[in-house]
Amino acid sequence: MLPLHHRTDRGSLKSFLGGGVKRDKGMIDDRVLLVHLPYMPATSYKKPKYRRIVLKISGEALRNDATGQAIDSDVLDRLAEELKSLRAIGTQVALVVGGGNIFRGLAGARSNGTDRTTGDNMGMLATVINGLALMDRLEKSGLEVRVMTAIPMDRIAEPFIQRRATRHLERGRIVIFVAGTGNPYCTTDYAAALRANEMGADAILKATKVDGVYDKDPMKHKDAKRYVKVSHAEALTKRLGVMDAEAFSLCEANKLPIIVFSMAERGAIKKAVLGQSIGTLVV
Ligand code: UDP
Repeated sequence: MLPLHHRTDRGSLKSFLGGGVKRDKGMIDDRVLLVHLPYMPATSYKKPKYRRIVLKISGEALRNDATGQAIDSDVLDRLAEELKSLRAIGTQVALVVGGGNIFRGLAGARSNGTDRTTGDNMGMLATVINGLALMDRLEKSGLEVRVMTAIPMDRIAEPFIQRRATRHLERGRIVIFVAGTGNPYCTTDYAAALRANEMGADAILKATKVDGVYDKDPMKHKDAKRYVKVSHAEALTKRLGVMDAEAFSLCEANKLPIIVFSMAERGAIKKAVLGQSIGTLVV
């Protein structure tokens, strides 16, 4: 089979070939088309395991701990490169971005007494800031991007409409979902689980600062062991904290695979999409 983006051009190739070698009525033999296609590196023909993904990027993953900057320019650049590398394998990508590098409703309520709903609204606006930073960088690197928001703000982003979002993905655009679910008392993990189900995604890729799911906190315990693969049920009973409970149960109920990996690992997103072992696979 030819890669999808070549097959879409079959109509024009057919007329270019002037009929070509026909297998049966109206069909051209793929082998004939291949002769006329430009050279592409072998990796371009790798078949993705996941055809459509939701990539959840926590706000913390965007932060530069050394400088204290909320949004690290290098992280944006690397992400743009990683997403560009997915174009050749044809996987459709939606991003859900967190806001914890800027504001979290619960933390605001605890530290300065901000009303929880107000704090959560502030947290959701923080995700918009991150989403716009991502949009800018991805577009500058040549990717086509749409930002869709759960809280209407039509001068800045499109409203989230499930069918329109699907259409963007089908056209090869990267969709960035911002403002979480649009509701307080939720997290962007829940938004990622929700959007992944709504969009019919094949997997959620969760990019964090840690390189997977451990049996205990790897920051505190030197003997902590990383799971390579774990079932939803085991992750739930062992309280492995892959995502918050509501988000996780939404994934479990719909048998949605989750891959947890570190943003710092180069090529991680592509590896995950190709089904190669990376971080922890919850399935
Ligand atoms: N938030 C919310 N509803 C949502 C998603 C997010 O109220 O549907 C708020 C909540 O206050 C949360 C903040 O936005 O703490 C930032 O999101 P999150 O903590 O999930 O970001 P991350 O940890 O991924 O950076």
